Order: sequence, then structure tokens, then C-alpha cells
Amino acid sequence: MTTVIPQRIVFTRPVCDYCFKEDKWLVHALNDLHGIKVCEEHFVDGQRDVKAWFHTNDMVLIEDLLKVYDLPRVGILVPRSNGSFTEGGELVCSSVKNQFVHKNSNGDWVVMVSFLGLQKEINIKILCGDAYGVVEHLERGFYKDEYDSVKDLTVSTSTFKHDGLQEVYVPGTGVVRMLIMPPPPSTKN
Ligand SMILES: [Zn+2]
Repeated sequence: MTTVIPQRIVFTRPVCDYCFKEDKWLVHALNDLHGIKVCEEHFVDGQRDVKAWFHTNDMVLIEDLLKVYDLPRVGILVPRSNGSFTEGGELVCSSVKNQFVHKNSNGDWVVMVSFLGLQKEINIKILCGDAYGVVEHLERGFYKDEYDSVKDLTVSTSTFKHDGLQEVYVPGTGVVRMLIMPPPPSTKN
């Protein structure tokens, strides 16, 4: 059994990353150009591995969070530069491009909120007042089960057969392309 690390999909052969069978299914990770290529049989593996990768990168799909928590989507308090708060932010949750709650460099879980035509990053604690224990859940690992189930698996040989440039989600910046070095090969099965 192998695990696959999401990567850029464009200009690659349409074969399943697990069994190399020709197929056209995709499980998206960062956006519609980045994810895991799967066949019908390995679709669930693709979903599992994308979530495990999100866990490694401290990211949670807002879409998934909303399935568990009834978070406010409009009328969100937005911090102003003078230290006060203004109500009226809207949760950015597009189905076209995956949107995430992610951990920033200060160790805070943040989310993008649209306010007066601008996108602002706000602490998830401001969004929900932590009334639902959301932060504790994020700290425990929203996708920890998926991560635990793949952490000892061998990375598929189809992964990293590229130039090392991958799309990476950078908190506060969005998706950028970065040179990523492959991990050492695992000896476990
Ligand atoms: Zn397959």
C-alpha cells in the first residue's frame, strides 16, 4: 500500500498515481491544477492522502469545517487598525478554489474574510469566539485520522518525478510555486 503526495497536475500523463492505470479522475488539493490523479478504485485513497497532506501543512478546508461546525459566514467582526472591531466581514468560501483555515507563523489558526472588497486574515477565535471548541479540534488535528493512517506508508514512486517545483499554500500570500526537495525514501511497507 502506498501514499501519494499532492502535486501539480498540469502537463502530466492522465494515469492513476497509485496503480498507473489510465484514468481521468482527480482529487484536488490546493486548486484545480494541484492534487492527486486517481482511478475510480483509488478515489478514496486520493481523498485520504489529500487530507493527510493538509494535516502536515496545518490546513483545513473551510468546506470540511462547515460540515462539522455551524460557523458564521456573514456579519463577522473584522479588526481595524485602531484596535476596534467592525461587523460586516464575510467568510471566503468559494467552491471554485479550495479555501482553508490555516495556522500562521504565530501559531494562530486564521481564515480569510472578505470585507469592503478586501480580503483580511482573521483569527478563527474572532470568527467563532471558540464557542464550539473549534481551536481545540484544529490543534488536535482535524485530519489526524487520515494522517495517522498514511504516515508509515511508502510514498508512491510516481510522486516527485517532476522538476521539484510544487504549488504551496503560503499563509497570507496564497498559492505560490516553490522548489520542494523530496523526502528520503521510506523503507517501510
Ligand atoms: Zn488506481
